[in-house]
Amino acid sequence: MSNLAQSLDQLTVEGELYEPISDNAVSCTACGHRCLIREGRRGICQVRFNRNGKLQVPWGYVGALQIDPIEKKPFFHVLPGEDALTFGMLGCDFHCSYCQNWISSQTLRDPDSAVSVNHIQRVSPEQIVSYALRSGARVVASSYNEPLITSEWAVSIFSLAQQEGLKCVYVSNGNATPEVLRYLQPYLVGYKIDLKTMQDRHYRKLGGVLNNVLDTIHLAKELGLFVEVVTLIVPGFNDSTEELLDTGHFIASVSRDIPWHVTAFHPDYKMTEPPPTSITTLIRAAEIGQEAGLNYVYAGNIPGRTKEYEHTLCPNCGTHLIERHSYVIQSYNLTEKGTCPKCGIEIPGIWTDKPENVRTGGSGMPRSVTW
Ligand code: SF4
Ligand SMILES: [Zn+2]
Repeated sequence: MSNLAQSLDQLTVEGELYEPISDNAVSCTACGHRCLIREGRRGICQVRFNRNGKLQVPWGYVGALQIDPIEKKPFFHVLPGEDALTFGMLGCDFHCSYCQNWISSQTLRDPDSAVSVNHIQRVSPEQIVSYALRSGARVVASSYNEPLITSEWAVSIFSLAQQEGLKCVYVSNGNATPEVLRYLQPYLVGYKIDLKTMQDRHYRKLGGVLNNVLDTIHLAKELGLFVEVVTLIVPGFNDSTEELLDTGHFIASVSRDIPWHVTAFHPDYKMTEPPPTSITTLIRAAEIGQEAGLNYVYAGNIPGRTKEYEHTLCPNCGTHLIERHSYVIQSYNLTEKGTCPKCGIEIPGIWTDKPENVRTGGSGMPRSVTW
């Protein structure tokens, strides 16, 4: 067993998201793979494993911890201008060839990511929450690697954070199960889901299943979480007009009020062939989202060059409600009730009741954590 596996295996506790089955095997319900894991074996994510008929799950460390503008998650309709103390662990249930966080996500799956052992920082849920409070963050987010596979750890942090009045969000690939969503629901207010493609055969290449993600979008919404959907537009992979229209129609069929972020691809990890997404393609994707009936479509990763698609406009009267440049709020014009100041319609989201306090013109940059 590698040093990294040994280190990570020590940082585990017995999980809650699993069922024992016969012969000391277990069935994990933390993600859509629903691995059946025999004694001594690991799940597809490699970081959950069966020890003596019990499922051991990651606990007690972070692989990354940073204060990010919440717009970076991206959440555009959850407390704009606030900071989100964001933690991640190591490992993933997917293996996307264009992953930007692959050193953290492909731990134990790709030997080249073994350097992630240096990212391990032991920490307690109490330390994370107390840091969030000291730093002034109003949101705590689980992100960077796939949070579903470490949901027990997230809940141990979120339950404390919630008691302190902080809001908690997930930034996830959406390969969930009803069990994990119901487990998380009492603690979460927002759930960002990647909808990477509408073609199941493409999802399989990334290690996922299209229907699991579509079901997660439906159920997260039904459970009352504020859902925002992100599609990274990869040239030649998911940027045909037909596929983008399919994506937009699907999201609109769940709710026209779900914000859809189309973001620009930059070559990374093993996907170095396609060129970066052009501004024209990104704007075309955003226009297709509007054509599909979505009320809030955003174009990301090319700040200042995507027309109005960085801003939130009232879908009824066109008033500029929130103006942004990259992760910076330039102006905030919603009322304290979260309505349009001109026509009065309610704008879906989680808004402050003190609009005068929304931070405008911030740095828009992540801040590292100094204990
Ligand atoms: S989290 Fe997903 S990939 Fe990991 S063991 Fe559980 S079902 Fe398998
Ligand atoms: Zn209006």
